[in-house]
Amino acid sequence: MERSEQGGLVHPGKQNDDLFPPFVGDLFVGDALALDAVNTERLVKGTRRDLLVSPDAFAHWWHQAQLHYPPLELEQGNQEGLTADPGVLDTFKVLRTALRRLFEDVMAEREIHEENLAPLNDILKMGSQVLEQTEPGTFRLRDNLDAQPQARVFLPIVRSAIWLLTEGTRSRLRTCHNPRCHLFFYDRTRSATRQWCCLKCMDRARSRRRYKQVKEHESMQ
Ligand SMILES: [Zn+2]
Repeated sequence: MERSEQGGLVHPGKQNDDLFPPFVGDLFVGDALALDAVNTERLVKGTRRDLLVSPDAFAHWWHQAQLHYPPLELEQGNQEGLTADPGVLDTFKVLRTALRRLFEDVMAEREIHEENLAPLNDILKMGSQVLEQTEPGTFRLRDNLDAQPQARVFLPIVRSAIWLLTEGTRSRLRTCHNPRCHLFFYDRTRSATRQWCCLKCMDRARSRRRYKQVKEHESMQ
């Protein structure tokens, strides 16, 4: 495992695959697909960096997302051609910006801006549903995605956001307590006391605080 510029550990091959700029932590900490979509931008030394620097990086992220979020298995299949399209990445980035602003406003209990709902509603219009019988007497609603193949990527993200906004508990929507991280997550713990995106982040923030305390103590002597 190599060390990043920040001195933290960078995950080897599996997640980074040289497709992403160096970053610390895991790709999926949000416990909600829509939040992990927003988390594809990370603070690195106080500057927001985009992990999705190319269509290949996006295709890789999407593949990892399919593995991480089991309900997406419904949308499995080779989607490399789809996600490698630069236009799809552009649409994703518009959606990501809208989601970030929506979640930030909701968390701050501010009025949301209607224009940030528009990209979500545009994506909802891409999809339609059909009723099908899976076995005698059992039915399910299934996405009819023939018209807009890219909806296979965007609809699950938007539905995750809709769930957070309509059924989620607002106080469980948080950002990591580490001010150098600030990744979004949905706290699904029973106690609703999750403060950190991951244990690594907690350890790093705590050791920084301890270091600062020691330095302050030394300077007082
Ligand atoms: Zn964090």
